[in-house]
Parts: sequence; C-alpha cells; structure tokens
Amino acid sequence: MHELGIAQAIVEMICEHSGGARVTRVVLEIGKLSAVLPDAVRFCFDLCVEGTPMEGACLVILETPGLARCCDCGGEVCLERPFGRCECGGTDLEWLSGEELKIKEFEVI
Ligand SMILES: [Zn+2]
Repeated sequence: MHELGIAQAIVEMICEHSGGARVTRVVLEIGKLSAVLPDAVRFCFDLCVEGTPMEGACLVILETPGLARCCDCGGEVCLERPFGRCECGGTDLEWLSGEELKIKEFEVI
C-alpha cells in the first residue's frame, strides 16, 4: 500500500515546517490521475499522526480532475480515470494535469 508511504511523507514534511506547533487542519490536493486513493490516504494519515503534533488534525482532500491533450487532433480531453479516448477516437493522450499530489495548505494554532 503506497498510500502509507505518502501519508508518512506528508506528516513528516508538515511536522518539519510547523516546528512542533499543533496542526489543526491539512488540505491536500490529489489528482484523479495520480493513482492515489484518497480514502486510503485518509486512513493512513490517521495512523501516521498518532503521537505527533498533528494528532486530531482535520484532513481535507481536494480531488483535481484530469486533463489531457489528444496527440492526433490536439483537442483537450477530460479524464476521470488514468485512461480514456478523445472524441476523434484517438487514444494517444498527453496528460496536462491531474497527476498532482501536494500539500495545499495547513493550519497551526
Ligand atoms: Zn483527438
């Protein structure tokens, strides 16, 4: 389960930046094409924050939609999953966004 590693990295990074201050809220941005499951991250996050200044922090996950460009016709294609097809029938898609996994913001007391 690679979400555990991701959650650990996020918790470590925030603890480092907050300098030990109590963290009350964390907002993550997870792209729909990132192959990361928000529910799994949420579950792992709760495990990882135990015993840290982030324990009890509210986790907000924003899912960003996927967007790709068709290599055949140049049109833009919205993707809900890491695969898809353009209106022209082309399947050679170049991803423009939706792969992001980042900490958007966090709040400390
Ligand atoms: Zn196309």
